[in-house]
Amino acid sequence: MAAAPTFPAIDPPDILLYGPGPSIVHPRIYRAMMAPVVGHLDPAFLAIMNETSEMLRQVFGTQNRVTFPVSGTGSAGMEAALVNVIEPGDPVVIGVNGVFGERMCSIVERCGGTLHRVDAPWGRILPPDQIIDAMRQSGAKVVAVVHAETSTGVAQPLEEIGRAAAESGAIFVVDCVTSLSGMPIDVDRRQIDIAYSGTQKCLNAPPAMAPITFSDKALARVRGRKTPVQSWYLDVTMIEQYWGKERTYHHTAPITSVYALHEALRIVLDEGLEHRFERHRRNAQAMAAAMAAFGLELLVPEDERLWTLVTPRVPEGVDEAAIRAHLREWFHIEIAGGLGPLKGKIWRIGLMGEGSQARNLETLLGAFGHVLRQSGWEVDPGAGVSALNRYYREQYERPH
Ligand SMILES: *Cc1c(COP(=O)(O)O)cnc(C)c1O
Repeated sequence: MAAAPTFPAIDPPDILLYGPGPSIVHPRIYRAMMAPVVGHLDPAFLAIMNETSEMLRQVFGTQNRVTFPVSGTGSAGMEAALVNVIEPGDPVVIGVNGVFGERMCSIVERCGGTLHRVDAPWGRILPPDQIIDAMRQSGAKVVAVVHAETSTGVAQPLEEIGRAAAESGAIFVVDCVTSLSGMPIDVDRRQIDIAYSGTQKCLNAPPAMAPITFSDKALARVRGRKTPVQSWYLDVTMIEQYWGKERTYHHTAPITSVYALHEALRIVLDEGLEHRFERHRRNAQAMAAAMAAFGLELLVPEDERLWTLVTPRVPEGVDEAAIRAHLREWFHIEIAGGLGPLKGKIWRIGLMGEGSQARNLETLLGAFGHVLRQSGWEVDPGAGVSALNRYYREQYERPH
């Protein structure tokens, strides 16, 4: 008889994660994840849940009582945000200037909403007046945009849309998956009704949960539905009874993932939001300077750029995928390529949390210069690191 096959223990390499997510996991988070699993109604766990919600309120910039992580990745947050407030036949306006706006459209159609899409070129913002016109013309019950479009590197302005939604009564949904804790969100100040995020972007925890927050206006909409929320798992009124005072069992919380998020939020608040935002802002500028030094153009105009992701165009004659393969093979560094119409045309380099640190940026830029030069692009391989250093020296005396 042949011996039963055996399987070696997993041995994944230690990769410096500079893609659009998952991002570099903070060592403190790995440590938190080794804490013992307890029952999902254990008093010790309930205290951890309350603290997690309280820290999330601070990071989102909201007083919303209903603020917690949904079990599932960022897309579960997107689905939870939309399915709870859309009923069949409801007019819904979605801004589309990248992959994640497209994904929202697909969810709207699946819940039977009447979709009104507003398109902008991939790599540019959605002009707020076009969104607002579409809201008015369609009598939108819900309007949704992506704050940080991770497929392109665009930062969407939110204030005017928030104001218009507050006036018209529409529910304003914002995808903050790639901006939460890297750029200001200010849920209450910007009159956002539902915002959601993910744990594996700027929060530097593994992918697993989707922090989300609902305003009272959004909850009133859910309570006033004529039809039940189509998703049992993502029905906020039931999840809220577990995260709120009632502590009614709905589904078993992913205990270890809550530990990870709790520690991630502690790291964010230990640093302080203002300091963290400023660090991301400066390092995004330093990266833009480094890309210019390599002779690379950025896809997004300067005043529409994210602080958490940079998207250089691939120059003519350079093999986009080969650059990524060499970074992975020679340096154990991951970056990503473009999606959809931008496939082969851009690289996507995440600058999220730990990724937006001088020491990691130096490593990335040194390696990136090396593989660019090796690919035949006539450039000084050290130009990126020099530009980074020059930027820090001239602007701020020291790295941030
Ligand atoms: C990553 C991302 C998502 C989806 O998150 P998953 O964790 O992959 O499900 C949604 N929106 C944006 C803007 C993202 O960057």
